[in-house]
Amino acid sequence: MARYTESVCRICRREGQKLFLKGDRCYTDKCAVTRRAYAPGQHGQGRRKLSEYGTQLREKQKVRRAYGILEGQFEHYFEMANKKEGVTGENLLTILESRLDNVVYKLGLAASRPEARQLVSHAHFTVNGKKVNIPSYLVKPGDVIAVREKSRKSPKFEMILASTEGRIVPKWLDMNRDTLEGKVVALADREDIDLPIEEHLIVEYYSK
Ligand code: SF4
Repeated sequence: MARYTESVCRICRREGQKLFLKGDRCYTDKCAVTRRAYAPGQHGQGRRKLSEYGTQLREKQKVRRAYGILEGQFEHYFEMANKKEGVTGENLLTILESRLDNVVYKLGLAASRPEARQLVSHAHFTVNGKKVNIPSYLVKPGDVIAVREKSRKSPKFEMILASTEGRIVPKWLDMNRDTLEGKVVALADREDIDLPIEEHLIVEYYSK
């Protein structure tokens, strides 16, 4: 499985924004972006003004890193979004939100997207009653995502549920924390996406 080896907090600091890659810590004032709001490295505090291309590239990198996706797959999602009817940038965000690892995170069944990706890969979930261990699996309205029977009693999930208690589940999903089952009510709309993203910059980046 592809993964980043860089410290996840450095990724946020480079993008100048909280990307919520670390779970609980992201919601406290221990967050590295809160404590050191400048890019990492020797020249981090003297950030240069970016060119138009640089701004588009950074936006693409930020979104790619927030969702933990490698370059090739991100390009593939862009092509999918471009072929669909509607606004390409919004289509892209809907596709990204539909990934199973993102849905598990948004349901509060993982503290962060990286943790959700790992839990899905380790086969802790079913979709419509069948085991699915592919983080990039794209869910559809009506799909039911559940913690597998044998994983339900695991202390891991007890800890996760305690840490995500009170987290707001977006309206396109419906979560039952008693049965550890969530349902996809609809695909995510633009307004459902809470990260500050300027998706038109990504469209411009790929349109060159
Ligand atoms: Fe680290 Fe989370 Fe803060 Fe990002 S948002 S810098 S991952 S603590």
